[in-house]
Amino acid sequence: MRPFPDYHVHTYRCGHAGGASRDFILRAVELGLAEIGFTDHIPLYFLPEDRRDPRLAMREDQFDGYVAEVLALREEFRGQIAVRLGLEADYAEGYEGELSSWLARAPWDLVLGSVHHVAGDWIDAPGSEARFEKEGAERLYDEYYRLLAKAARSGHFDVLTHFDLPKKFGKRPASPRERAEEEAIAAAREGGCAVEISSAGLRKPVGEAYPEERLLRQIVAAGIPVTFSSDAHAPAEVGWGYDRTVTLARRCGVREFVTFEARRKIFHALPGPG
Ligand SMILES: [Zn+2]
Ligand SMILES: [Zn+2]
Repeated sequence: MRPFPDYHVHTYRCGHAGGASRDFILRAVELGLAEIGFTDHIPLYFLPEDRRDPRLAMREDQFDGYVAEVLALREEFRGQIAVRLGLEADYAEGYEGELSSWLARAPWDLVLGSVHHVAGDWIDAPGSEARFEKEGAERLYDEYYRLLAKAARSGHFDVLTHFDLPKKFGKRPASPRERAEEEAIAAAREGGCAVEISSAGLRKPVGEAYPEERLLRQIVAAGIPVTFSSDAHAPAEVGWGYDRTVTLARRCGVREFVTFEARRKIFHALPGPG
């Protein structure tokens, strides 16, 4: 039994995940996870309609079906595993009103706050890596953390995802952007957001968890709660890499983690090794 949740899980609707939603749950049950939170990508409400790529997020007309499916699965698996209704919602500066309207449409257990769109384009999509040389890693990292801090303070999000996402392709600034990082960490604390410890980065070119150890230590020292996730886009990715991320958490001084129900935090002691 692993008492952890997997709080970042997609469905086929986002256009770059595959498998039946039920199979993601069955994998979580097989691993003995305590909870699985579906958090598919919110429709790209902040882009003009002709730029809402159906390979990056669910279409608007899929939203109600997504919510209905997760609520039905939550009932079906009750007593076996806790299935949570969540959403990975992009933060986009200037579109807070539109975001509010989307979030008002369903009774979420948790809402993940993500920044994928920085300075006018994606930073993590196929082909985005060229931007770091062209536009400068320093500029993109600083702008990313500025937006992440605004997201944290917006009050819309329970959990900040992949905290150091710009590193995905291994493109780093010459030295860490400490001012920008510190501002995002302070914003997470003040905004009452938790931060996910995500194994997804281990599967990317950068080859390390989000957030990296140096940042996770600062996040923990700031008293910010953490939770666990895989960012699964296939059933086999559910709970993937948890041996490494849980060990990382212990090494960084994590003593407890949070789960969510109806957007309320529930604290759990982090079990010791062995
Ligand atoms: Zn995705
Ligand atoms: Zn994401």
